[in-house]
Amino acid sequence: MIYADNAATTKMSRAAVRTMTSLMEEEWGNPSSLYAHGQKAKEVLEQARADIAAVIGAEPREITFTSGGSEADNQAILSAAALGQKMGKRHIISTAFEHHAVLHTLEKLQKEGFAVTLLDVHRDGLVVPEELEAAIRDDTCLVTVMYANNEIGTIQPIRKLGEICRRRGVLFHVDAVQAVGHIPVNVKADNIDMLSASGHKFHGPKGVGFLYVKKGIRLSSLIEGGAQERGKRAGTENVPGIAAMAEALKEADCGMAENMIRISALRDKLIRGLKEIPHSALNGDEARRLPGNVNFCFEGIEGESLLLLLDDKGICASSGSACTSGSLDPSHVLLAIGRMHDVAHGSLRLSIGEETTEEDVAYIIQSVKEVVEYLRGFSPIWRDLTAGKKAFIL
Ligand SMILES: *Cc1c(COP(=O)(O)O)cnc(C)c1O
Repeated sequence: MIYADNAATTKMSRAAVRTMTSLMEEEWGNPSSLYAHGQKAKEVLEQARADIAAVIGAEPREITFTSGGSEADNQAILSAAALGQKMGKRHIISTAFEHHAVLHTLEKLQKEGFAVTLLDVHRDGLVVPEELEAAIRDDTCLVTVMYANNEIGTIQPIRKLGEICRRRGVLFHVDAVQAVGHIPVNVKADNIDMLSASGHKFHGPKGVGFLYVKKGIRLSSLIEGGAQERGKRAGTENVPGIAAMAEALKEADCGMAENMIRISALRDKLIRGLKEIPHSALNGDEARRLPGNVNFCFEGIEGESLLLLLDDKGICASSGSACTSGSLDPSHVLLAIGRMHDVAHGSLRLSIGEETTEEDVAYIIQSVKEVVEYLRGFSPIWRDLTAGKKAFIL
């Protein structure tokens, strides 16, 4: 099997699995208990917090553990909205191609009377800082923009956006789930007030993530209960999962410089190979993208059939995001960068990683070429296009 769907989830690293299982067997105490067995678990928890904080340039007390990226996004946005509400500020700025954990939370706030402005991400999948500046109003309480897009991999000019927010006195939240562990992220240098991350996107376990919140910003809790996480997130902490996430993040951080070079070279090879397919187009800016992300549209075919046939060839890939597959709507991300419906349906995301080899890339290119040609062979749309009854878009 060739796994090229690392944007959906990643395999846990050996070190993360080892950390997790040994804690489950040995330090399984409740960190809130006062006897030594509980306090050992508490130490493990606080070490994980310190390790994670160090990687992203934060202080340990600025890290709150959550059940993953979705929860962190929800909590950050709802907290900022609650703070805004108190000051009579009910306007939020975001982009049209955020993850649904952000977009659906914003929709909920709209129903409660908040105004939301979604910035254009243009053809290249990038926010223009001047457009953010122009969109900020006196009543803007939050700007939330993702670090890197989960479908097309484009990396936003976060530092500049953060600078603008800081200058204008607006809270800046960043969904960095696709960036943390893959490209350098530093909350101080990047002027970030709140940041969401998720363990399973960087070779840690599923169901665990964290939210960074700059000290002085009041977080409201989504879950009522005990006083865990300084009262901001009730529920007994998932100590083995949290420690395994910290282990995976430290590992990813150590190997990052080297991995970025190696993986982006493979990515570029993959892009060059797939560009040879006629009537195809890369989605998102070619240079300003995640090291492992390749996303293409192929005219005249359906992404779903493409995926099934690639699966037969042992390749795991995705079309749109895992969250939207199963629905007939084309990806909101591809629509946001201006792809027409027809073309957006024929999309393919390959997200490669540390384990991808040169041979894998060659095999993927060959397989995609074969499958696209095969599918076009009996596609009525393709027949109309080649017969001149319909104009090619790509
Ligand atoms: C995966 C993902 C999420 C959701 O994270 P979970 O831990 O699966 O809840 C949020 N945002 C982005 C950009 C993602 O890629």
